[in-house]
Amino acid sequence: MKIPFSPPYIDDDIKREVMETLDSGWITSGPRVLALEKLVAEQTGLAHVACCNSATSGLMLLLHWFGVTRGDEVIIPAYTYAATALVVMHIGATPVMVDSGEDFNIDIAKVKERITSKTKAIIPVDIAGWPCDYQELFELVNAPEVRARFKPVTENQKKLGRIMVLSDAAHSLGATYAGKPIGTWGDFSVFSFHAVKNVTTAEGGAMCINLPQPTFDHAEVYRTLKLWSLNGQTKDALAKTNGAGWRYDIVYPGFKMNMPDICAAIGLAQLRKYPTFMLPERKRVAEAYAKGFANYSWAIVPPMKDDVRESSYHVFALRIKGITEAQRDSLIERITEVGVSVNVHFQPLPILTVFRERGYRIEDYPVAFSCYATEISLPIYPQLDQDKIDYIIDAVVRAYKSL
Ligand SMILES: *Cc1c(COP(=O)(O)O)cnc(C)c1O
Repeated sequence: MKIPFSPPYIDDDIKREVMETLDSGWITSGPRVLALEKLVAEQTGLAHVACCNSATSGLMLLLHWFGVTRGDEVIIPAYTYAATALVVMHIGATPVMVDSGEDFNIDIAKVKERITSKTKAIIPVDIAGWPCDYQELFELVNAPEVRARFKPVTENQKKLGRIMVLSDAAHSLGATYAGKPIGTWGDFSVFSFHAVKNVTTAEGGAMCINLPQPTFDHAEVYRTLKLWSLNGQTKDALAKTNGAGWRYDIVYPGFKMNMPDICAAIGLAQLRKYPTFMLPERKRVAEAYAKGFANYSWAIVPPMKDDVRESSYHVFALRIKGITEAQRDSLIERITEVGVSVNVHFQPLPILTVFRERGYRIEDYPVAFSCYATEISLPIYPQLDQDKIDYIIDAVVRAYKSL
């Protein structure tokens, strides 16, 4: 049996939506992007969501919107995908890394120690789709002594009056925290529609606007983000196609980060069936794994649901008790030999060259390292039936027994 790690979910509805887009005569940013924004907003309970060409772009644009720049610090987890750190570096600021907890997410108790007068934002990441503790995080950024240390420079920083919480929700579309969907917790939250994510547009992202109201006008923030993600141009290509409307202005040195309609079409057709089909299917697979591994005391299954949160089941991050990094690698080799593709989420950033060369040391992030060293991500997607799930569990059990 050959089981791929994360094939995209493509059915007839998705093909039809893409074909209709091709036939419509309009393939870049247009009505389908607007429809996707509206659907994400509906599903998260927000009024304004702005799509862009990747979560990476969205995170960077939002840091720029907040005026984060050279000399500033942004707190991020050491245990995440590199994009969380790179966006901070791209705008000239310094990523300040914090170790994770046993649930893979940033350890909020340790965040406090790393806040300085230069801290402008925190980027929590809902690793594997498991929400961070947002109540604890907001208590922290709102604490009088933490607010007192915040040094606002730009207009938006003055209006917010505290550290911005920019949620990297690349994994957590569909997850909930305290009964409310992810997207409605951070000041902003950014979903990723990359090909391996729960909902995809091949490449793409969505910026959810959830700043305090009425301090901020969400409609105005939305317009700004759309303008800045399309060269700062007052009219998009669709608006200009109507003959007499050719004249436009460039009012801001914006970026080119807009999502094309041809991509939005894929996401639109997927998202329509995400809450009722694709997400429950992921949950089915996760629960089948949890049941299958329940008899093995060496298998630690990831957090999925408790009193306050439920995962989006993006990654099934299995951990094996007490093994070394080398033993984990050899388990992966044995599992792969029988046709099952697995993965590791994530290599903590300090072990990657670009961060090591900038002075980050893995020794400072022992929990992140131990999560990484013992972790194997198993395939999880709607197309996995019980036979395949049993085959995967069997492959892991056999590999472990042969260690
Ligand atoms: C995938 C991912 C991103 C980047 O998403 P893109 O849409 O590919 O830019 C950012 N953060 C995390 C944690 C991710 O897994």
